Amino acid sequence: MPKKLVYYFGGKKADGDAAMKPLLGGKGANLAEMVNLKLPVPPGFTITTEVCTHYYKNNRKYPKELKSQVRAALARIEKEIGKKFGDKNDPLLVSVRSGARASMPGMMDTILNLGLNDDTVHGLIEMTGNERFVYDSYRRFVQMYGDVVMELRPHSKDERDPFELIIEAMKKTKGVTQDTELTAEDLKELVYRFKMEIKNKLGREFPEDPVEQLNGAVDAVFNSWMNERAIVYRKLNNIPESWGTAVNVQSMVFGNMGETSGTGVAFTRDPASGENVFYGEYLMNAQGEDVVAGIRTPLAISTLNVQDPAMYAQLEKVRKSLEKHYKDMMDIEFTIQDGKLYILQCRVGKRTGNAAVRIAVDMVKERLITDKEALLRIEPDQLNQLLRPIFDNSEKEAAIKQGRLIAKGLNAGPGAATGRIYFNAADAEEAASKREKVILVRIETSPEDIKGMNASEGILTARGGMTSHAALVARQMGKVCVAGCGSLDIDYSARELKVELAEKTVVLKEGDWISIDGTTGEVFEGKINTKESEILQVLLEKSLKPEYSETYQIYEKVMHWADKYRTLKVRTNADQPDQCSNALAFGAQGIGLCRTEHMFFGGDRIDAVREMILSDTLEEREKALAKLFPFQKDDFYGIFKVMEDRPVTIRTLDPPLHEFLPHTEHEQKELALKTGKTFDEIKAKVENLHEFNPMMGHRGCRLGIVYPEITAMQARAIFTAAAEVKKEGINVKPEVMIPLIGYASELENQTKVVRKVAAEVMEEHGVKFEYHVGTMIEVPRAAITADEVAHTAEFFSFGTNDLTQLTMGLSRDDSGNFLPFYEAKDIIPGDPFVSIDHGVAELVSMAVQKGRSVKPKLKVGICGEHGGDPKTIHFCHKAGLNYVSCSPFRLPIARLSAAQAHLMYDDIQIKPAAKKKPAIKSKPVKKTAAKRKVTKRKK
Ligand code: PEP
Ligand code: MG
Repeated sequence: MPKKLVYYFGGKKADGDAAMKPLLGGKGANLAEMVNLKLPVPPGFTITTEVCTHYYKNNRKYPKELKSQVRAALARIEKEIGKKFGDKNDPLLVSVRSGARASMPGMMDTILNLGLNDDTVHGLIEMTGNERFVYDSYRRFVQMYGDVVMELRPHSKDERDPFELIIEAMKKTKGVTQDTELTAEDLKELVYRFKMEIKNKLGREFPEDPVEQLNGAVDAVFNSWMNERAIVYRKLNNIPESWGTAVNVQSMVFGNMGETSGTGVAFTRDPASGENVFYGEYLMNAQGEDVVAGIRTPLAISTLNVQDPAMYAQLEKVRKSLEKHYKDMMDIEFTIQDGKLYILQCRVGKRTGNAAVRIAVDMVKERLITDKEALLRIEPDQLNQLLRPIFDNSEKEAAIKQGRLIAKGLNAGPGAATGRIYFNAADAEEAASKREKVILVRIETSPEDIKGMNASEGILTARGGMTSHAALVARQMGKVCVAGCGSLDIDYSARELKVELAEKTVVLKEGDWISIDGTTGEVFEGKINTKESEILQVLLEKSLKPEYSETYQIYEKVMHWADKYRTLKVRTNADQPDQCSNALAFGAQGIGLCRTEHMFFGGDRIDAVREMILSDTLEEREKALAKLFPFQKDDFYGIFKVMEDRPVTIRTLDPPLHEFLPHTEHEQKELALKTGKTFDEIKAKVENLHEFNPMMGHRGCRLGIVYPEITAMQARAIFTAAAEVKKEGINVKPEVMIPLIGYASELENQTKVVRKVAAEVMEEHGVKFEYHVGTMIEVPRAAITADEVAHTAEFFSFGTNDLTQLTMGLSRDDSGNFLPFYEAKDIIPGDPFVSIDHGVAELVSMAVQKGRSVKPKLKVGICGEHGGDPKTIHFCHKAGLNYVSCSPFRLPIARLSAAQAHLMYDDIQIKPAAKKKPAIKSKPVKKTAAKRKVTKRKK
């Protein structure tokens, strides 16, 4: 039997179902499922993603069986609805749409009204008795086909769409402003002019043969899998190119057949807040793209309940049955054709982080899903949105009083953003690359704008509803967005926006500051500082009581469930008592990394540090270290007091010493005065400490081995603080961690120093406390010889920042110059300093096994920046680590990711379907300077 390449949906039962997403794409699989659910779906067929893969593997050629299978499926549609493709009297018209496994809104091409030509147009007029509607459909089809299939479209950002120019000219001659004011005759004339334009500009005729039209449209949709915006979108969303897209050919229904027809988009719950209300927009006498493109501003779905309660009730029924069946928030597209409802598409709805968390929690309450399923529903990075800034209320009120509230649009993407105005995506991207905070302001956005949107703090549009491109994409990216702000008069060529207020006209130019509140839809002239989220106000500032914050309560529930299921512990990287309290509020179970050198820069300590470095003799150095000791001891005391009986891992000095010395002449002269050394002596010392590869130089345990007195001072500070706190009744658990060892003997050397001091301090203070000495695994040799290292080490902590750079031979400070290029060229799958590289991961797994072959209960953690990355956390769970350690603000994400890892890999109750889910999609890796800096060496 020939391979099945085409799947029919229609009649009583479809060929496919919702489980067949990889083959039929999301759209095709859900259309089939809706047919099986007996929902009113116009019949059609899906050409599988395998055809797409074949097409690209075979130099854009199709499998030979495809033609006959398409023909047969078309015949089935014709039979089912009693119309014929290309029939002069009663033509079947179809839409041709892309449909990948993961939704890629607006990234690929779509053709509607296919099958119209100069013959069939008459049949349709005859059938509908509505000449204007038919010519409107015809001109839309020629315009779309000309653009998408024949590629007659603007090729630079300054060029205008040739078809739009023709429409504008026509409106001008006719003295009208709206498309809807054009008559049937005008539209017919437009069809003619469009075809002439195609012929004149391309030297080819618009195809009249419906089969040729269909073939061209299918080619165009498959080709659009490789257009630039689809490629960018896939990269940002980790969608593999090998998945390919399916093509859906579906019989057309019309929302623009008069006042009893209409079209709309709806979500079964509010996609911005997650509230359990039917949420959507519609337009009567319109086609789908009018709603999505934001050309006309649509009405809220609740208005339909007033306009046509029976139709609203039918939609409500669809809403209920979809939620009951899919057990998730769904997004649907519908069309009403002459009073009859059709559902054209359904998919799991995109939502904000706030909505994702709320919907998951509500659905558990409603007994639609279990708490485990709820945890798997939330993408860890979505939690970030709950921790997003809002405007400082007093500043916002002041701005309102000053008359700076200039407009209000739709609250399309929550959060508050402030930045400088840029009017096109390319400029926004360029400004953001220079570290400017940018708000992208557009009349409406299109898929071409995604890179600029991604680079911006927020997006503001003049047109379009909650389901417009800007709104959908912003929500998905987690960007602040205000859409459909109709009072903005945007002039791209003058690079300005104007707002006419009752009392004044506000003009803002490119580069001016603007602030937008994506939770309320407000737009402010000028800058407004942002402030922490409600959760931070409850947890950190304690300025809001938990009982007054619903958002906090929802967050707390999710964290409670996450803690119930996760087996991986979470610790934090913190060096100050206040950071430790923040971390505890976010659920830290200990400190995984305290970088002692971070304390060296506070107050006058740096003077003592420099004195220590400049010392020529042991006596001098010990004198300087004695000055440093009380500072260090007090720091550790503060940390132990906050952390109480939780483990606290403190690393001995790690960076190369030159990092603490001044490098300008002026600073060196100042230091000379302070220390009594000469300028020349200081200069000579700095030069002497200079290293070509400081990351591979005299740092880590190598310092403590050459200068054991430094390790001894630090150990004394740690243990003295521990002794003092222990005497206060707190059961401290210090863990001393030796960095950058490559040889077991290095660890033995430093462990001896530490243990000797511990014994002395306990003796001096007459108190005993539990402590451990372990090591960081950061040098590949240490990983390879982990069994040798484990004889001495009481714990391992993977310093994956260094382990990555040393394994890959990549400098974590400089690789930013070329890694983005590597990513763009697909040489590497992502930034290895963000998600652990699988080669580095191999080393980690091997070291865990070797270490535990010597000490089966060896405690193992990770403290590199990867410890807060969801993908890496999954790996850590599988590799059997005991804990991950990350920055305090990443802890909620780490807790959720750890729970998901347990549920996905170990929980036998979770359905296999959930286990098959790809390891949590991580958010687009943004290579902002700020993010990369996290792993930078300079402290
Ligand atoms: C590491 O290398 O992963 C680490 C945590 O140490 P640092 O970043 O301080 O070098
Ligand atoms: Mg390191």
